Amino acid sequence: MKICDTHTHSNNSFDAQNSVEDMCKSAVERGLYAIAITDHCEAPLIKEGEHSRYGYFDKTIPTSFREANDAKLKYRNTLKVLCGIELGEPMHDLKCTQRALQYGDFDFVIASVHNIRDFEDFYYLDYNMINIDKVLNQYFDELLETAEFENFDTLAHITYPLRYIKRDTDLMYNLEPYQNKIDLIYKALIKNDKALEINVSGLYKDFGSSLPDAYQVKRFKELGGKYITIGSDAHCADDIGKEVEKGIELAKNAGFTYYTIFEKRRPILIDIK
Ligand SMILES: [Zn+2]
Ligand SMILES: [Zn+2]
Repeated sequence: MKICDTHTHSNNSFDAQNSVEDMCKSAVERGLYAIAITDHCEAPLIKEGEHSRYGYFDKTIPTSFREANDAKLKYRNTLKVLCGIELGEPMHDLKCTQRALQYGDFDFVIASVHNIRDFEDFYYLDYNMINIDKVLNQYFDELLETAEFENFDTLAHITYPLRYIKRDTDLMYNLEPYQNKIDLIYKALIKNDKALEINVSGLYKDFGSSLPDAYQVKRFKELGGKYITIGSDAHCADDIGKEVEKGIELAKNAGFTYYTIFEKRRPILIDIK
């Protein structure tokens, strides 16, 4: 079966280590069919220029795009390399988002929400000090707003805050009170032909679950979900492709007979066997 990892970060992301070249080499060694390079672009922070602690996106993203494009050519006989971007908080500043999308002629655009308006990245919040319910309600509202945006392909790691809630409280937070909102997110994705990502980083890091979990993937399918993308969210060459097969298994158990990669912003279906 073809293994495709569509969420990876090169050293053009502020928090990742290896070059695009090393990421691709690792993908070839592991026998992957495709890899998407999807470096971080926290859209609203573009206007901070070189002072943003998340990177100088005017420089890093065009570089990422160019390096991925070079690798696409170099590896054309052994590995499908897709030029992507992880577009953070696209709804916070649409002008910045437009600018981000013009950094390159991307194959694939991941949308994600790492922080809600007026808050830091979920990573930095102290969940013993804040009102978790209030924050999660705002988070799912912002995810719905993002799901309704037209210019992306997959919605990433929709249970991202749960990872850090668990880190601080040891609890796997129950999403039942938010399921109505989450269903609206799925319905928006389905209506607009967008994909839901199974982010498997939580399976090899300490979280212990994919983001989202099997129940949520099933729910997406039940509501009519068509497209699933699967990503390791690797931040180093060693993690390329890690647990992607488990992600495929999860999609299969939810009733999907294929998963999806995007090339030139169009879905390509990968059979699940
Ligand atoms: Zn992310
Ligand atoms: Zn990522």
